[in-house]
Amino acid sequence: MKKRNFIPLLAAALLLTGCGTNSSSGSQSVSYSRDIFAMDTYMSIRSYGGSESALDAAEKRIHDLEAELSVTVPESDISRINSGSGKPVEVSSDTLTIVKKAIETGALTDGALDITAYPLVKEWGFTTGNYNIPSAERISELLPCVDYRKISISGSTVALSADQQIDLGALAKGYTGDEVIAALRENGADAAVISLGGNVQTFGHKPDGSPWKVAVRDPFSPEKDMCTVEIGEKAVITSGNYERCFTGEDGKSYWHIIDPADGFPADNGIVSATIIGDRGIDCDALSTAMFVKGLDGAAGLWRADRTYDMILITDDARILYTEGLEGTFTNMSDMPAEVIRVD
Ligand code: FAD
Ligand code: MG
Repeated sequence: MKKRNFIPLLAAALLLTGCGTNSSSGSQSVSYSRDIFAMDTYMSIRSYGGSESALDAAEKRIHDLEAELSVTVPESDISRINSGSGKPVEVSSDTLTIVKKAIETGALTDGALDITAYPLVKEWGFTTGNYNIPSAERISELLPCVDYRKISISGSTVALSADQQIDLGALAKGYTGDEVIAALRENGADAAVISLGGNVQTFGHKPDGSPWKVAVRDPFSPEKDMCTVEIGEKAVITSGNYERCFTGEDGKSYWHIIDPADGFPADNGIVSATIIGDRGIDCDALSTAMFVKGLDGAAGLWRADRTYDMILITDDARILYTEGLEGTFTNMSDMPAEVIRVD
């Protein structure tokens, strides 16, 4: 496992620490925090109330999920599915839930989210760090394997076509966030704010009663914050082109979100897509899909649903955010910001 992008991820952790410093009397005034490296990313948890054991339970849940879900752990459910040669493989309820959500989001987004894009992700070197621009021939060879509709689920088994492989990197951290929050709640915490590689999720109230304030990074200067939003119990999950990217020998930048339509890094006008909603798994799946869809596709999907909010940054440096964020969105950048409205 490679440890990359230390600086931006640490920045997210520091932001998180800043969110939780206020305290008042009562059980919520006691706060506990922990930094963890797992799933190839830096994670921070700050919980209020209860005891340190809530953090122990949350940390254990993260490591258990990594063992089940990681494509780089040979005994994980995902590795067993990938080496199953098309046969059904018995998996955990966690794996089943995430694969079902991935198929559902694949259908919702017309294949913009497609977990069977893994052979392409691997070919570009995004799992190993051995970056490489694949030849057009190699991409044409791999593209026919990419089709989430060929994943079959029966009972608690998952089967792929023999030429397919999956990875859950697009949505498993969001699910992990939901499970971390559940573990904290079940183990006595009253409130928490967590950052899993920049994916921020909250529960309960901040000790001073004010809303949680979460910053979203500027994709053009990732060391800076671009905006803040004030939220209640929510997930704020971003997909961007500024992490897990490399400059090719041709001098161009290539990033880890692949457009399943052509096998290249998605380049449809969006450089950062943030989804704000109730559940981490939904927001994580959608953030990756919206990045692939581009502005019009993403706005259309939001208008048809509106159970979440969205902040998009375009490659010509414009911010577009959905109307539910009006009043809580603060622009900290020089970019113009427009509201995406229902009509
Ligand atoms: P997101 O936008 O949420 O997801 C992008 C990721 O989804 C890509 O990195 C790719 O993996 C995948 N993807 C790309 N395009 C699509 C698409 N169109 N549809 C569906 N999926 C797509 N990284 C390592 O380098 N080494 C590891 O050992 C490792 N272990 C991990 C273990 C777990 C359990 C998890 C959840 C992640 C792990 N990662 C590892 C990181 C992972 O591979 C991704 O890089 C990471 O999840 C990207 O998250 P994100 O929020 O930055 O981007
Ligand atoms: Mg995602």
